[in-house]
Amino acid sequence: GAVLAANPAVERLLSAGEPLAALAQLFPRHQPERLAAHLTELKRQGQAATVIPFSRADSPPRWLELHSCAIVGDESLALAVLTDATERYEEELAGRAAIRFYETVCHNLAAGVMVIDSHFTIQRANSAIARFYKTTPEALVGRKCHEVIHRSPTPCSRMGEICPIATSLATGAPFQVVHRHLDADGAPRFIENRVAPLPDPNGTVVSFVAMFNDQTEIRNVQERLEAKTHELERLNQELLAQQEQLAVQAEELKRANFELITLSAAKDEFVSAVSHELRTPLTALRESVALVADGSLGPLNSRQAEFLNLAHRNCCRLTELINDLLDLSKIEAGRLELKPGSFDICRLSAEVCATFASAAAKKGLKLDCPQADRPDGIQVFADERLIRRVLTNLVSNAVKFTDQGEVVVTVAIQSGDAVVTVADTGIGIRKEEQPRIFQKFHQAAGNDGTRPPGTGLGLALAKELVELHQGRIWFESEADRGSKFFFTLPLDNSLARFRLLLSRSCLANQTLGLLLVALADPGRLEPAGAPEALDTIVRLAEHGPFAGCRAQILPETGEVTLTCTCRDADELATRASRLRKLLQGATFTVHGEPVRVRLRMNCLFLKQPAGKTPEELLVELRKGEQDVN
Ligand code: ADP
Repeated sequence: GAVLAANPAVERLLSAGEPLAALAQLFPRHQPERLAAHLTELKRQGQAATVIPFSRADSPPRWLELHSCAIVGDESLALAVLTDATERYEEELAGRAAIRFYETVCHNLAAGVMVIDSHFTIQRANSAIARFYKTTPEALVGRKCHEVIHRSPTPCSRMGEICPIATSLATGAPFQVVHRHLDADGAPRFIENRVAPLPDPNGTVVSFVAMFNDQTEIRNVQERLEAKTHELERLNQELLAQQEQLAVQAEELKRANFELITLSAAKDEFVSAVSHELRTPLTALRESVALVADGSLGPLNSRQAEFLNLAHRNCCRLTELINDLLDLSKIEAGRLELKPGSFDICRLSAEVCATFASAAAKKGLKLDCPQADRPDGIQVFADERLIRRVLTNLVSNAVKFTDQGEVVVTVAIQSGDAVVTVADTGIGIRKEEQPRIFQKFHQAAGNDGTRPPGTGLGLALAKELVELHQGRIWFESEADRGSKFFFTLPLDNSLARFRLLLSRSCLANQTLGLLLVALADPGRLEPAGAPEALDTIVRLAEHGPFAGCRAQILPETGEVTLTCTCRDADELATRASRLRKLLQGATFTVHGEPVRVRLRMNCLFLKQPAGKTPEELLVELRKGEQDVN
């Protein structure tokens, strides 16, 4: 390994200051065996070549190629050529690394990969495809692909299937298809094939790379999904059919309901008309009988007096019944006019009790009204004439249904209302009768199964009258232990007056319609633009279908409220739809610029506002827009 002579190029190549004395200077110190191997090969073969990594502290690492050749005739000498192989060798290393990279990727792919030549012979196979066929990649190499994939001795343009390799060979382009393959156990699987031609260094296509993806599971899921979709479609059709049927039925119900309402109105009209016609002759009859009965028109014997008195009592009962019927029908038609005022409910209770004093005394009952002497009384705001009827009815019932003990009428103030209680120690009302006690014409059967005398209208009327005053009526009762009837009345203050006036105005006009018009995009109009557009709406509304209604603008929410009175919900809906047409055709401006405003409209039709102010109703309206039609 001693260097006998070296040309100047060697020194330049090594960029060493001193001459090269021994080959060992070229080799890394820790690899002396590489020099030994080079020399051994030179001796044995007459020549040897080695690539040596060469690095010096002051220059980047390089690769040197040492090519030694024995000199013929003198075996102890050799000619060595030293060249810089850095560039070539690094390219080769990179090439090897790339091959290793692709091989690693290929073997670790979940998809199967095979390289197949133009004679359908498998040249390479990765682990995934070998696993699929329960074999090794080496065992696949050399076999025909159609034998492996289809278990067929011939290439597979059979059964109408397109062979992707044949296609790719014919077109020179990649090809993709989903095929039925047989797996290692002969079971059919759906495999996605992607084949791409692999040209050799001369550009001639001699082989193909084929990639196989098992799509069987996806297919199965897809098929199940399709079946489910069909099933859903069928169900949907059925639902639609049922919906149509329901719509038809709903329409029929609506018609029937309308007929019922019409019939009910006709009935009420009839009852009202008949009662009215009966009242005048009945009054004349009652008064005439009274005149004869009290002997004003001449003396009567006791039998005559007895029968005339009986006739007079029955005339009075009939008058009462007719009055009750008339009042009820007036309330139901919204025609009963309240004449509220301030009065002392304690005084009224005492007066009503006084009218029943003799009837109570006859039955040996104690009739008491402890608040009668209360110095300043309790002032309520109500229609005294109507409340007298409520009290009369309750006290009359208490006396009628009590045979021993007492009837006590008390008045108290509770939660800002006056509460009147009529308590008795009478027969009470059985549990099963209690739910129907306020129904028209309902009379609870006594313990002996007989109906008590009366019309069954008193409590129904009392309930309507109390509720007309925004009050509540209820009772507590136990069979054989007595009953307590309670009702509330508003105390005389400004809130009570306002509520009653509101409810009266609604009743007098039948109903109150509320219409809330909202701009769908109020943010767009905020803050300065909103009033302009809202003003336009109000102007249009007030001169259009809502002429005469009250309008209120709420610029913070971009809403307009229109309050009006209508006969029924249909009238409100008709007006609302006319208003919508009008507003949709209108131009709104913001800062003088026209904008398109989408409208949202809610209508609320109230038969009975139940003590709520329009403002309170508005709050509710905004809370539950879905409840509003
Ligand atoms: P009526 O004119 O028949 O008394 P109401 O409507 O006043 O009609 O009462 C309906 C029914 O309620 C009565 O028939 C009676 O059965 C029952 N009832 C009402 N008040 C009392 C009471 N204080 N005690 C027991 N039962 C009562």
